[in-house]
Order: sequence, then structure tokens, then C-alpha cells
Amino acid sequence: MPEADSLREVGRFDSNCPGALFLAIGGLHGNEPAGIEAAGRVLTRLEKGNVKLRGRFVALRGNRPALAQNQRFIERDLNRVWKASDLLGLEQRKHHQDGPDEGELRDLLQTFSRLFVESCGGAPLEDIVLLDLHSTSGPSTPFLCMADTLQNRPVSFALEVPVILGLEEALEGTLLDYMSEAGHISMAFEGGAHTDPSTIDCHEAAIWCGLVAAGCLDERALDEDPDDMAAMRKRLRRAAAGAPAIVEVLHRHGTHPDDGFVMAPGWANFQPVQRNGILAKDDCGDILSPLTGRLLLPRYQAQGDDGFFVARDVRPIWLRLSAWLRRRQLDRFLHWLPGVTRQDGDPRRLRINRQRALFGVKQVFHLLGYRRYQEDETGFLFLRRPDRLSPKAKTQ
Ligand SMILES: [Zn+2]
Repeated sequence: MPEADSLREVGRFDSNCPGALFLAIGGLHGNEPAGIEAAGRVLTRLEKGNVKLRGRFVALRGNRPALAQNQRFIERDLNRVWKASDLLGLEQRKHHQDGPDEGELRDLLQTFSRLFVESCGGAPLEDIVLLDLHSTSGPSTPFLCMADTLQNRPVSFALEVPVILGLEEALEGTLLDYMSEAGHISMAFEGGAHTDPSTIDCHEAAIWCGLVAAGCLDERALDEDPDDMAAMRKRLRRAAAGAPAIVEVLHRHGTHPDDGFVMAPGWANFQPVQRNGILAKDDCGDILSPLTGRLLLPRYQAQGDDGFFVARDVRPIWLRLSAWLRRRQLDRFLHWLPGVTRQDGDPRRLRINRQRALFGVKQVFHLLGYRRYQEDETGFLFLRRPDRLSPKAKTQ
């Protein structure tokens, strides 16, 4: 009999009513167990029987060997291995050849494919929603990352914490990216510092608010307890007070294990930065901000290769405009622009020629739902994210 802490499923709650599968995963980074504890609290409350759920809630553990050692990962970061090349590598080798983190990747893929075909209340799943729960090495306002698809927006914005766009362009191989590319609703939620007890509270609030936004719960579902939905929303709003509503990542500073990278002391998430302000140093000297904006995710821990990110605020009007443009499928005409061609005739993949393209064309691509996925000397390759153009369309 395996130890409870080594099981993939923390637990599940079935309503026996048709609805969405709402998946919460904690500890994809092994030194970030707060999400698992928060999901356990939600399960306990659901099991008390006074909360009426539609669909199914399942809580999963992420990287179990890393969780057991309270380390971000053992050999490979389990939140950077969801690229097509990694998945192909998995197919080409036998499971006994997997490293510890790769074994977790294989097992998670099998778990997802099992969960995604289970029926719910006698009907196929109406939707698949993933909330990937993380925490940060330093103190931080809670925030959420999403790939900017139309289906991700309503659930993400319902949590009322800052939303970061474009992180999946800067980080390759995240679970969030993998799920978004499959057309599912998926968000990564950062609840605060690893060891701060309020991080568990924020994760718990994010799960409840996410369940309401996904249609699994009514807004009044927790009214019988003092910790009702209004209290959960207040908890998130208070923790995120003063932070911007939406930002877009424009720069990532990557690090190498031996480059001597050290963040300058005192930087906090979302703190404004000036162009050329000193953010960190490494063996080559001071590292300056390439632009004026906001600092994101300063690295105050030993593991990982993301030094920091710089982002800029996004005005909500741009999101409204981009939804309007995408629903009219104006991307059909993008390859008519100078310097833009379809890659291999595929309308989802467009190449921008660096020399010939108009200034600002990349911003237009983002507005129309494309993400950059490759860059070389001659230009950029952009891939259209899978938007659901009709609000009633399902994921499967
Ligand atoms: Zn994490």
C-alpha cells in the first residue's frame, strides 16, 4: 500500500451531476507544497456535504520525489518539460530509462488522459479547467499567468489578482502552455511566498473562485459558512491591493548555473523599474533593466534558470479590442502584410521577416491571438493559439 503522500491524487469530489472537470495541481515544483494543502482544505469542505457542486473536482500532487525532498526538482524542472521534443523523447524511451522528474511527467500524462475521458454524471465532461498552484521564493502579491486565449480570460479575470500575459512566450515547456495548446482552460496561480501561511489561504480562495468561474459552483454555494465566497474574494483582493490588473512580459533574463547570478537586494514582484536600473549582477558585472516597466519574479533562490522578467501594464481596452478582432477572424488576412508569410501553408503558423515587416507587427500578432515560438536571424515564427470563437463551444 503506497504512503498517502506518494499518491498522485490528493483526492476527488464527484457531484454526479454533468459539468466540468476542475483540476487543481500543487507541488509541480517540489518546494511549493502550499497548493496541495489548500486543495485538501477544499476537499474537506466539499465532503462535509453542504456545498453543491456540478461536475468533478480533482486535486493532484505534482513532482512527488521533489516534494519528498522539499526541492524544486530532482534533475529536470517538471514545469519546463512539456515541449513537443520532451514528449517525443518520452515516447522513444522505455519508462525505466526515465529520470525521476521525467517519470513524473510520464505518469502525469497518463493521469490526464485517464481523467479527461471519464464521464461525469452519466455525460461527457463539459469542459476541462486546470489550476496549477505555485508559490514564490520571496514575498509576493498573488498573481496569475495565462496564455491569452478567449476561453482562458473569463476564468482568469474572475480571480481578481494581477494577470500576467506572455510568460509562456518567455518560458518554454510549461504545463500551462501544454494545456492551453490542447484548447483547455488553464491558469498558473502564484499564491505568495513558499513558507508564508497566507499563501495556502490565497490558494484556497483561488480554487473556490475558480470553481465558481468554471460553472462548478454558484456564487452562494458557501453561504452557510462564515468563510463564504465574498470572504474568499475579499481575501484575494486584499492580498493583491495596489498591484496592476494586467501586465505583459516583454523581457526574460535567463541564468546559467555557473554565471554567478545574484539579484540585487530588496526587489519585489511588480515593483516599477526604470530603463538601465541595476537589477542584479553576475560574473560579467551589473545587469540592467532593458526597459522601463515592472520587475517580475526576481530569483532569490538557488534553483531554476529564470533570473527575472520585465513587464509592462496592459490597458483593458486592448483586450476588448483583441477579442473583437479575433471573433471576426481577421488573422485570415495577416499574411497579406509585407514581410509576413504562412509557414508550410499552415494558416496557424506565420513567419515574420525581420527586415521586411512593418514596425509594431508583433503587437498586432499578439492582439490577434498569436504567440511567438521561435526566433532566428531572419525573423520570428508565430503560432495561433486555439481560441474558442463561440462561447458555447466545448473543449472536446
Ligand atoms: Zn513554481
